[in-house]
Amino acid sequence: MPELPEVQSVVNYFKPLLSEEKIHKITSPNGYEKVFDTHSFLNINIVTKSLRINDVFRKGKYIVLELSKGYLCIHLRMTGQLQMDIREADSLKHCSFAIFFESGKSVYFRDYRKFGRLYYYKDLDILNDKLGVEPLSDKFDYDYLLGRVKGSNGMIKPFLLNQKHIAGLGNIYIDECLWLSKIHPKKIASRISKPKIRVLSDAIPKILTQAIEFNGTTIINFSYGNQVTGDFKQFLNVFGKQGEACPRCKTILKKIFVSQRGTHYCPKCQKV
Ligand SMILES: [Zn+2]
Repeated sequence: MPELPEVQSVVNYFKPLLSEEKIHKITSPNGYEKVFDTHSFLNINIVTKSLRINDVFRKGKYIVLELSKGYLCIHLRMTGQLQMDIREADSLKHCSFAIFFESGKSVYFRDYRKFGRLYYYKDLDILNDKLGVEPLSDKFDYDYLLGRVKGSNGMIKPFLLNQKHIAGLGNIYIDECLWLSKIHPKKIASRISKPKIRVLSDAIPKILTQAIEFNGTTIINFSYGNQVTGDFKQFLNVFGKQGEACPRCKTILKKIFVSQRGTHYCPKCQKV
Protein backbone atom coordinates (compact mmCIF):
# COMPACT_ATOMS: atom_id res chain seq x y z
CA MET A 1 0.00 0.00 0.00
CA PRO A 2 1.47 3.35 -0.99
CA GLU A 3 2.45 5.49 1.99
CA LEU A 4 3.71 9.05 2.33
CA PRO A 5 7.05 8.53 0.48
CA GLU A 6 5.38 6.69 -2.41
CA VAL A 7 2.61 9.30 -2.73
CA GLN A 8 5.18 12.12 -2.54
CA SER A 9 7.20 10.41 -5.28
CA VAL A 10 4.07 10.19 -7.44
CA VAL A 11 3.42 13.91 -6.83
CA ASN A 12 7.02 14.82 -7.67
CA TYR A 13 6.76 12.88 -10.91
CA PHE A 14 3.38 14.23 -12.04
CA LYS A 15 3.57 17.86 -10.87
CA PRO A 16 5.58 19.13 -13.87
CA LEU A 17 3.48 17.01 -16.26
CA LEU A 18 0.05 18.16 -15.03
CA SER A 19 0.59 21.77 -13.92
CA GLU A 20 -1.21 24.32 -16.11
CA GLU A 21 -3.26 21.62 -17.89
CA LYS A 22 -6.95 22.42 -18.42
CA ILE A 23 -9.50 19.66 -17.88
CA HIS A 24 -11.51 18.67 -20.94
CA LYS A 25 -13.37 15.65 -19.59
CA ILE A 26 -13.18 12.82 -17.05
CA THR A 27 -14.21 9.28 -17.99
CA SER A 28 -14.27 5.80 -16.49
CA PRO A 29 -12.68 3.54 -19.14
CA ASN A 30 -13.78 0.33 -17.36
CA GLY A 31 -17.17 1.73 -16.31
CA TYR A 32 -16.40 1.58 -12.58
CA GLU A 33 -18.26 4.76 -11.64
CA LYS A 34 -17.96 4.14 -7.88
CA VAL A 35 -14.46 5.57 -8.28
CA PHE A 36 -16.09 9.04 -8.26
CA ASP A 37 -16.69 9.25 -4.55
CA THR A 38 -18.13 12.72 -4.01
CA HIS A 39 -19.98 13.25 -7.29
CA SER A 40 -21.78 11.30 -9.96
CA PHE A 41 -19.94 10.72 -13.19
CA LEU A 42 -22.04 13.44 -14.82
CA ASN A 43 -21.55 15.97 -12.04
CA ILE A 44 -17.78 15.53 -11.71
CA ASN A 45 -17.60 16.56 -15.36
CA ILE A 46 -19.87 19.56 -14.83
CA VAL A 47 -17.91 20.90 -11.83
CA THR A 48 -14.42 20.39 -13.30
CA LYS A 49 -15.02 21.34 -16.96
CA SER A 50 -12.30 23.70 -18.28
CA LEU A 51 -10.71 24.19 -14.84
CA ARG A 52 -6.93 24.58 -14.80
CA ILE A 53 -4.54 22.63 -12.56
CA ASN A 54 -2.65 25.31 -10.63
CA ASP A 55 -0.63 23.02 -8.39
CA VAL A 56 -0.09 19.35 -7.48
CA PHE A 57 0.79 18.44 -3.91
CA ARG A 58 0.45 15.73 -1.27
CA LYS A 59 -1.69 15.81 1.85
CA GLY A 60 -1.35 12.70 4.01
CA LYS A 61 -1.71 9.90 1.46
CA TYR A 62 -3.86 12.01 -0.89
CA ILE A 63 -2.62 13.41 -4.19
CA VAL A 64 -4.20 16.86 -4.47
CA LEU A 65 -4.73 18.64 -7.79
CA GLU A 66 -5.40 22.26 -6.93
CA LEU A 67 -7.73 23.59 -9.61
CA SER A 68 -8.63 27.14 -10.59
CA LYS A 69 -11.76 26.37 -8.52
CA GLY A 70 -11.69 23.61 -5.91
CA TYR A 71 -9.56 20.49 -5.62
CA LEU A 72 -9.47 17.05 -7.20
CA CYS A 73 -8.07 14.57 -4.67
CA ILE A 74 -6.87 11.08 -5.52
CA HIS A 75 -6.36 8.28 -2.99
CA LEU A 76 -4.40 5.34 -4.38
CA ARG A 77 -5.45 2.99 -1.55
CA MET A 78 -3.95 -0.49 -2.11
CA THR A 79 -3.13 -0.81 -5.78
CA GLY A 80 -3.88 2.53 -7.48
CA GLN A 81 -1.36 3.81 -10.02
CA LEU A 82 -1.32 6.89 -12.23
CA GLN A 83 -0.03 6.78 -15.75
CA MET A 84 0.40 9.50 -18.36
CA ASP A 85 -1.35 8.72 -21.63
CA ILE A 86 -1.87 5.16 -22.72
CA ARG A 87 -0.32 2.83 -25.22
CA GLU A 88 -2.36 0.74 -27.62
CA ALA A 89 -1.24 -2.46 -25.94
CA ASP A 90 -2.50 -1.31 -22.52
CA SER A 91 -5.71 -2.91 -21.33
CA LEU A 92 -8.39 -0.55 -20.05
CA LYS A 93 -9.91 -3.26 -17.83
CA HIS A 94 -8.34 -1.90 -14.65
CA CYS A 95 -8.54 1.83 -15.54
CA SER A 96 -11.16 3.25 -13.18
CA PHE A 97 -10.83 6.81 -14.39
CA ALA A 98 -9.03 8.92 -16.94
CA ILE A 99 -8.68 12.70 -17.15
CA PHE A 100 -8.38 14.21 -20.62
CA PHE A 101 -6.91 17.68 -21.01
CA GLU A 102 -7.57 20.38 -23.59
CA SER A 103 -3.92 20.04 -24.75
CA GLY A 104 -4.58 16.44 -25.84
CA LYS A 105 -2.65 14.96 -22.89
CA SER A 106 -4.34 12.47 -20.57
CA VAL A 107 -3.72 10.73 -17.26
CA TYR A 108 -5.04 7.26 -16.44
CA PHE A 109 -5.76 5.72 -13.06
CA ARG A 110 -5.10 2.01 -13.02
CA ASP A 111 -6.41 0.12 -9.99
CA TYR A 112 -6.50 -3.67 -9.87
CA ARG A 113 -8.24 -3.89 -6.47
CA LYS A 114 -10.65 -0.97 -7.15
CA PHE A 115 -10.34 0.68 -3.71
CA GLY A 116 -8.80 3.90 -5.08
CA ARG A 117 -11.04 6.96 -5.29
CA LEU A 118 -11.33 10.40 -6.91
CA TYR A 119 -12.87 13.22 -4.89
CA TYR A 120 -13.80 16.80 -5.74
CA TYR A 121 -13.89 19.30 -2.87
CA LYS A 122 -14.57 23.05 -2.89
CA ASP A 123 -11.99 23.44 -0.11
CA LEU A 124 -9.77 21.11 1.91
CA ASP A 125 -11.73 21.30 5.20
CA ILE A 126 -12.75 17.63 5.06
CA LEU A 127 -9.15 16.47 4.68
CA ASN A 128 -7.91 18.92 7.31
CA ASP A 129 -10.45 17.49 9.78
CA LYS A 130 -9.45 13.90 8.98
CA LEU A 131 -5.68 14.29 9.02
CA GLY A 132 -3.24 15.10 11.81
CA VAL A 133 0.03 17.01 11.33
CA GLU A 134 2.34 16.33 8.43
CA PRO A 135 5.41 14.49 9.79
CA LEU A 136 7.74 16.48 7.53
CA SER A 137 6.35 19.87 8.61
CA ASP A 138 7.57 22.16 11.41
CA LYS A 139 4.45 21.23 13.39
CA PHE A 140 5.71 17.71 13.98
CA ASP A 141 8.31 17.40 16.73
CA TYR A 142 9.03 15.74 20.08
CA ASP A 143 6.55 17.93 21.98
CA TYR A 144 3.73 17.19 19.53
CA LEU A 145 4.33 13.44 19.64
CA LEU A 146 4.70 13.39 23.42
CA GLY A 147 1.45 15.34 23.85
CA ARG A 148 -0.40 12.95 21.56
CA VAL A 149 0.87 9.68 23.08
CA LYS A 150 0.17 10.91 26.62
CA GLY A 151 -3.56 10.75 25.93
CA SER A 152 -3.47 7.36 24.23
CA ASN A 153 -4.12 4.10 26.07
CA GLY A 154 -3.84 2.02 22.91
CA MET A 155 -0.84 0.25 21.39
CA ILE A 156 1.76 2.34 19.55
CA LYS A 157 1.39 0.65 16.15
CA PRO A 158 -2.34 1.40 15.69
CA PHE A 159 -1.69 4.84 17.21
CA LEU A 160 0.79 5.57 14.41
CA LEU A 161 -1.49 4.07 11.75
CA ASN A 162 -4.26 6.46 12.83
CA GLN A 163 -4.07 9.33 10.31
CA LYS A 164 -5.61 11.71 12.87
CA HIS A 165 -2.34 11.77 14.84
CA ILE A 166 0.22 11.87 12.04
CA ALA A 167 -0.78 12.03 8.36
CA GLY A 168 0.73 9.66 5.80
CA LEU A 169 2.33 6.95 7.92
CA GLY A 170 1.60 3.32 7.05
CA ASN A 171 2.69 -0.22 7.74
CA ILE A 172 6.17 -0.30 6.20
CA TYR A 173 7.63 2.89 7.64
CA ILE A 174 6.01 2.43 11.06
CA ASP A 175 7.72 -0.97 11.46
CA GLU A 176 11.02 0.60 10.42
CA CYS A 177 10.62 3.59 12.79
CA LEU A 178 9.68 1.38 15.76
CA TRP A 179 12.67 -0.89 15.17
CA LEU A 180 15.00 2.10 14.96
CA SER A 181 13.53 3.45 18.21
CA LYS A 182 13.63 0.04 19.97
CA ILE A 183 9.90 0.19 20.74
CA HIS A 184 7.70 -2.93 20.66
CA PRO A 185 4.73 -2.42 18.28
CA LYS A 186 2.32 -3.56 21.02
CA LYS A 187 3.70 -1.21 23.66
CA ILE A 188 0.98 1.01 25.16
CA ALA A 189 1.66 4.45 23.64
CA SER A 190 1.29 6.44 26.88
CA ARG A 191 3.79 4.16 28.68
CA ILE A 192 6.71 4.68 26.29
CA SER A 193 9.62 6.49 27.99
CA LYS A 194 10.36 10.09 27.04
CA PRO A 195 13.84 9.27 25.66
CA LYS A 196 12.29 6.70 23.32
CA ILE A 197 9.60 9.14 22.22
CA ARG A 198 12.42 11.55 21.39
CA VAL A 199 14.19 8.91 19.30
CA LEU A 200 10.89 8.06 17.56
CA SER A 201 10.13 11.71 16.83
CA ASP A 202 13.53 11.97 15.11
CA ALA A 203 13.23 8.59 13.34
CA ILE A 204 9.89 9.33 11.62
CA PRO A 205 10.98 12.34 9.51
CA LYS A 206 14.44 10.84 8.99
CA ILE A 207 13.15 7.58 7.49
CA LEU A 208 10.43 9.27 5.43
CA THR A 209 12.93 11.76 3.98
CA GLN A 210 15.34 8.96 3.07
CA ALA A 211 12.52 6.95 1.48
CA ILE A 212 11.42 9.95 -0.62
CA GLU A 213 15.02 10.37 -1.85
CA PHE A 214 14.83 6.82 -3.20
CA ASN A 215 11.25 7.21 -4.58
CA GLY A 216 9.76 4.93 -1.91
CA THR A 217 9.73 1.16 -1.76
CA THR A 218 8.78 -1.14 -4.61
CA ILE A 219 7.34 -3.96 -2.53
CA ILE A 220 3.66 -4.93 -2.72
CA ASN A 221 3.36 -4.33 -6.42
CA PHE A 222 3.82 -0.58 -6.31
CA SER A 223 4.91 1.36 -9.34
CA TYR A 224 4.00 4.72 -10.81
CA GLY A 225 4.51 6.81 -13.87
CA ASN A 226 6.31 5.13 -16.70
CA GLN A 227 9.46 3.14 -15.94
CA VAL A 228 10.01 4.81 -12.57
CA THR A 229 10.28 2.52 -9.58
CA GLY A 230 11.06 2.99 -5.89
CA ASP A 231 14.45 1.97 -4.61
CA PHE A 232 14.21 2.17 -0.82
CA LYS A 233 13.76 -1.58 -0.36
CA GLN A 234 17.51 -2.08 0.02
CA PHE A 235 17.46 0.10 3.16
CA LEU A 236 14.67 -1.73 5.01
CA ASN A 237 15.82 -3.27 8.29
CA VAL A 238 12.77 -5.24 9.43
CA PHE A 239 9.81 -4.96 7.07
CA GLY A 240 9.33 -8.28 5.25
CA LYS A 241 12.47 -9.67 6.92
CA GLN A 242 10.89 -12.18 9.31
CA GLY A 243 13.19 -15.20 9.74
CA GLU A 244 16.29 -13.11 9.00
CA ALA A 245 18.78 -11.81 11.58
CA CYS A 246 18.22 -8.42 13.22
CA PRO A 247 20.83 -6.05 11.68
CA ARG A 248 21.57 -4.75 15.20
CA CYS A 249 21.68 -7.81 17.51
CA LYS A 250 21.43 -10.81 15.13
CA THR A 251 18.31 -12.20 16.87
CA ILE A 252 15.85 -13.74 14.39
CA LEU A 253 13.19 -11.16 13.41
CA LYS A 254 9.54 -12.02 13.93
CA LYS A 255 6.28 -11.27 12.16
CA ILE A 256 3.08 -10.92 14.18
CA PHE A 257 -0.29 -9.31 13.53
CA VAL A 258 -1.21 -6.07 15.29
CA SER A 259 -4.61 -4.59 14.40
CA GLN A 260 -4.75 -7.14 11.55
CA ARG A 261 -1.62 -5.66 10.03
CA GLY A 262 1.49 -7.76 9.42
CA THR A 263 4.06 -6.37 11.84
CA HIS A 264 7.81 -7.00 11.83
CA TYR A 265 10.07 -6.55 14.85
CA CYS A 266 13.05 -7.83 16.79
CA PRO A 267 12.02 -9.70 19.97
CA LYS A 268 15.30 -8.75 21.67
CA CYS A 269 15.70 -5.06 20.70
CA GLN A 270 12.00 -4.25 21.03
CA LYS A 271 10.67 -5.48 24.39
CA VAL A 272 7.06 -4.82 25.45
ZN1 LIG B 1 17.60 -6.86 17.51
